[in-house]
Amino acid sequence: MKSVRHLIRDDIRAMSAYQIADIPSGFIKLDAMESPSHPFEGHGVLMQELQAQLASAPIHLYPDPAKSGLQEALRAEFDIPDCAAIALGNGSDELIQFVTMLTAKPGAAMLAAEPSFVMYRHNAALYGMDYVGVPLNGDFTLNLPAFLEAVKTRRPALTFIAYPNNPTGVCFARGEVKAVISSSDGIVVVDEAYGAFNGDSFLPQAGRIPNLIVLRTLSKIGFAGLRIGYAAGCPEVIGELQKILPPYNMNQLSLTTTKFALRHYGIISANIGSLKNERARMMAELGGIPQIKAFPSQANFITIRVPDADLLFDTLKQNRILVKKLHGAHPLLEHCLRITVGSAAQNDAVLDVIRRLYR
Ligand SMILES: *Cc1c(COP(=O)(O)O)cnc(C)c1O
Repeated sequence: MKSVRHLIRDDIRAMSAYQIADIPSGFIKLDAMESPSHPFEGHGVLMQELQAQLASAPIHLYPDPAKSGLQEALRAEFDIPDCAAIALGNGSDELIQFVTMLTAKPGAAMLAAEPSFVMYRHNAALYGMDYVGVPLNGDFTLNLPAFLEAVKTRRPALTFIAYPNNPTGVCFARGEVKAVISSSDGIVVVDEAYGAFNGDSFLPQAGRIPNLIVLRTLSKIGFAGLRIGYAAGCPEVIGELQKILPPYNMNQLSLTTTKFALRHYGIISANIGSLKNERARMMAELGGIPQIKAFPSQANFITIRVPDADLLFDTLKQNRILVKKLHGAHPLLEHCLRITVGSAAQNDAVLDVIRRLYR
């Protein structure tokens, strides 16, 4: 057998694949910040309408995202300023990749907090950027002096700030993020994947600050399977981004579904509201268990520190509940687990296991 392995970049051969959990059916899946149910479950008429629209979507034609009306719908629903340009991505992951490609000149640096979303560092490696990771404080707040020092000395072409942060759930102080944007000569991406669960956003500043890109996704608000993300910023930068995005990166079925979803955003808003209530309830319940430290979350997950992360992870798994084990991923995440906020019943199942373990 001929092998072509030697042709593949050494650094890529040394990587391991992104782990997508393979779980048996019947498991409660709380590892990936998915919504607990289809956003329109229980809305039979809407489901039928959506089915009809999908059935007549022009799947024989290449999509034209610019003319699809989706950008206008996003602008209207999320109050994106007229002066901002928008680029659509097949998930915001794709936009992270292409923004990296945009700035990856030889010797250019990417800056991010650690721990944060793993795809930042991954893309820096893929596109040959020097990655600079600045550790968070122990309570997962931003170490602003260290971060600003890195801005000054490393002069990053690209900085990623997840606002709120993943995998910690903590949202950095707005003033600190503003300080990073204003002190940086490079592009600063404020990644608001969890923006819908947070009381604050940089979207109103999109298009008004030359080096700001605000990144958003529909994945965490009920549409992880659609793969729809968008970047909003000044036309000068977004125009360059549009040049390198694959021309047909969005598909007709996603575009149709997203436009439909935005017309019925009230239902999505209500779903977000329920998850926020569940988050508050979980925080209160977890806060009453002395062995657990629950970090304040503005996202649809809660990161906790326990005496033995492996023990809780395995016990949850034995009870057919999958969460994300963060222990081992970064020194600051010692004995931490990340639990997606699910339905009331799913959350009760989690609390039940936790209470029995720590009683
Ligand atoms: C989930 C997530 C994304 C990626 O979302 P997509 O599904 O690709 O839109 C981006 N950034 C952060 C911080 C995330 O947690």
